[in-house]
Amino acid sequence: MDESTFETVLLSTEQIQQRVGEIGREIARAYPEPGDLHLICVLKGAFMFLGDLIRAIDRTVTIDFMAVSSYAKGTTSSGEVRLIKDLDTGLEGRNVIIVEDIVDTGLTLAYLQQVLRARSPRSLRTACLLNKPSRRLVEVTVDYIGFTIEDRFVVGYGLDYAEKYRNIPYISVLQNNGQ
Ligand code: 5GP
Repeated sequence: MDESTFETVLLSTEQIQQRVGEIGREIARAYPEPGDLHLICVLKGAFMFLGDLIRAIDRTVTIDFMAVSSYAKGTTSSGEVRLIKDLDTGLEGRNVIIVEDIVDTGLTLAYLQQVLRARSPRSLRTACLLNKPSRRLVEVTVDYIGFTIEDRFVVGYGLDYAEKYRNIPYISVLQNNGQ
């Protein structure tokens, strides 16, 4: 991996761990046991966030995975959202939290919230690690936000450019188009 591809570290491993820990504790307080708490990870970008988040939630949780595609191989949105992998179990009567990597235009999240709300969960909330409000095209409600950032294309901590850089343990701004 060529480190010269990356500009400065936007969010360090320590900053991410601290904030994800705070969100986990906030969620545990908001959903005291007993009762179902079901987290839905939006693949692929949110897998690392989910892994750290569930370890910070000190109560019983269940997880499931869903995959959507909104960006093909570039850094701009096509505006089109496709469901690639659906959930394994139903959501009726359950307390559900969508775990997403980043909300940018909001199109992906608006689509997901609409699809999942139609499955009659008891409650539906959303946790996003990153928020880029300057690029929003549709209004979406995000209940837990890790960090609000400027309009820069970021990689690392699960986020990719053309499927690369997901394993970088911090969040960085991409330069040179990832070449
Ligand atoms: P939206 O539909 O809100 O425009 O885009 C949401 C999806 O686009 C995110 O789940 C993420 O996969 C991708 N995305 C948006 N901004 C970035 C970014 O800065 N870096 C990366 N790697 N993906 C992004």
